[in-house]
Amino acid sequence: MKTYNGGCHCGNLRVAFATALSPEEMEPRACQCDFCRKHATGAVSDPEGTLTFILQAPDQVHRYRFGLGITEFVICRNCGVYVGAHMPDGDGAYGNVMAHVLDDHALFTQPTVPVIRSGEDEEGRRARRRKAWTPSTLVTMPE
Ligand SMILES: [Zn+2]
Repeated sequence: MKTYNGGCHCGNLRVAFATALSPEEMEPRACQCDFCRKHATGAVSDPEGTLTFILQAPDQVHRYRFGLGITEFVICRNCGVYVGAHMPDGDGAYGNVMAHVLDDHALFTQPTVPVIRSGEDEEGRRARRRKAWTPSTLVTMPE
């Protein structure tokens, strides 16, 4: 298991993605919803890994929701970078991270794969993410 660190531009929002998968083999997914297209996303995840969002100043982090409203799209309010998605689910949560916000983004050499998820209902979406996304946590750093 290796940890890939990254985050937003100003450093307020950090992320740590631990995975045994090799970045060269991961195919970043380019969701084709309006939000993701506007951000040119390339999301990676590993159900066997862990993902941690680390907030320095939580009031400077926007957890944007739209559509089904079940997902927090985690964006730094200060510098505007969209870092990844976090979906609270029961006692836990599942998330993904944008490969291009990781410090080692250049290791993710596979082209992004467009994916269309617009036909899903909430149950279908949650079921897919429980299998494909990374168990995630969102933590606030003490001052
Ligand atoms: Zn920032």
